[in-house]
Amino acid sequence: MNILVLGGGGREHAIAWALAKSPRTDALYVAPGNGGTASIARNVPGLDAEDGRAVLAFAEEHAIDLVVIGPEAPLVAGVADVLREAGIAVFGPDAQGAQLEGSKTFSKRFMDANDIPTARYGSFTEQEPALAYVRELGAPVVVKADGLAAGKGVVVAETVEDAEEAVRECFEGAFGEAGSTVVVEECLTGPECSILAFVSGGKAHCMATAQDHKRAFDGDRGPNTGGMGVYSPVPIVMPDELAVMHEVMEKAAEATAREFDNDYRGVLYGGFMLTPEGPKVLEFNARFGDPETQVVLPRLEADLVDILLAAAEGRPDDIDLRWSEQWAVCVVLASEGYPGAYEKGKVILGVEEAEELDGVTVFHAGTARNADDELVTAGGRVLNVVALGDTFDEAREKAYEACDLINFEGKQYRTDIGKKAAAGRSA
Ligand code: ATP
Repeated sequence: MNILVLGGGGREHAIAWALAKSPRTDALYVAPGNGGTASIARNVPGLDAEDGRAVLAFAEEHAIDLVVIGPEAPLVAGVADVLREAGIAVFGPDAQGAQLEGSKTFSKRFMDANDIPTARYGSFTEQEPALAYVRELGAPVVVKADGLAAGKGVVVAETVEDAEEAVRECFEGAFGEAGSTVVVEECLTGPECSILAFVSGGKAHCMATAQDHKRAFDGDRGPNTGGMGVYSPVPIVMPDELAVMHEVMEKAAEATAREFDNDYRGVLYGGFMLTPEGPKVLEFNARFGDPETQVVLPRLEADLVDILLAAAEGRPDDIDLRWSEQWAVCVVLASEGYPGAYEKGKVILGVEEAEELDGVTVFHAGTARNADDELVTAGGRVLNVVALGDTFDEAREKAYEACDLINFEGKQYRTDIGKKAAAGRSA
C-alpha cells in the first residue's frame, strides 16, 4: 500500500517510522519531510502540503492509498475535504472538524454544549466588552487569540493591566486575523497533561497520557517553545483522573458524530489541566501532538497502518491498540537561540552512535542534508532523542546518555525533562 504523510517535523518522522515498520507499507512519501524521513521514506520537498489540489494531484499520480495529515494548517485549510471528495482515504478531520483547533471560540462552544469540563470564558469581537470581562474575572486571567498563532497567541496574565494590554494587542493585530476574535478565560491551576485519541465513527480509542515541557529552560523558565521534552505515560495522573479524561474524550468523539457534517476521522488531542476540582480541558487539537507523538508511538505494539486505515475508512471497531509496558522519555535538542533567532547549517555528529544504545530512537525535526550529504541543522528544534526503559528513571537516564553522544555547534537542551514526574505531585 502507498502512503503519503504531510508535514516535516519530529512528529512526522515518528509517524513515518511507525508506518515504515508495517509489512503493509510499500511506498512511503513524506511532504516535505526532513533529514530523518529521507532515510526511511521518499521526501517530497516541492509539494505544498496546504494546497489540497496539489496534494490530490500527487496522490493520484503516485497511486496513494492513504494520506496522513500531520500538522494543523493543512487540516484547517481543508486538504482532507479535497482528498475525501476524490475518494482517497485520509487520516485527519475535514475543515469543520479541524475548527476544534482552528478556532478557540468554536472549541469552547463545543465543550459547553457537550458538558465537557473547561474554564469559564467569554468570546469577543470588540475590545470594550472584552476588557469589561477581564475586570469581572479579575487576575490572574487568560487572554487568547481565537485562531491559530503557533502557540504564541495565549497570555496568562498575572494582573488585570497585563490582561488588558494583551486584549488591546490582539485587537490591534498582533496575531493578524487570528486575533480579530479574543477569548478571555478563567485561569486554572494544576499540572498539565495531554491525551491523544484515535477518533472515527463517533468513537474514541485513547492512547497513553503524555506531559510536555513548553518552556525553553530548566525549571520551567524562559519563553514558551514548541516543546522541549516529553514523557509517557504520566505517573502523577491518578486513576480517577484518567477515568475522567477518557470519559471526556469519548464524550467529545460522540459529539463530533452528532454535530459535524462529516465523520471526524483522525486524532483528537485533549490538553488537560488537573485542577483541584478534577481534570478540565484547556484545548483540543485536531492532530497528533508534537512532541507527544514521539513518546506515544514507540510504545505502540499494534500496526499503525491498520489503525490509521481503519480510522480513515470509518471502521472504529477494527482499531486494536496494544501498548508496551515500558516508559518513554524524549529530550529535544535545539539550536542555540531557539525559540528566538538561530543559525542553521551546523553539522550534526553522533546520531548513529546514540541509536546504538538499547531502546534509543532519534526522531529528526529541523534537519537536512547539505551538498556534501552531511546531516545539518535546519530548524529551531533539531532532534528528538527518545528512550524506552523498564522504569521511568531508566528511560530518563538513557535519553540523556544518548543526548551526550550527539553534537552540533550551539546544542541546547533542558536537563530536567521528567524530573517533576520523578518527584511526584507536590513538585
Ligand atoms: P499550543 O499550540 O502551544 O498548544 P495554544 O495556542 O493552542 O497552545 P492553549 O493550549 O490553549 O493555546 O494554551 C497554551 C498554554 O497556556 C497552556 O498549555 C497552559 O499552560 C496555558 N493556559 C491556557 N489556558 C489556560 C487557563 N485557562 N488557565 C491556566 N493556564 C492556561
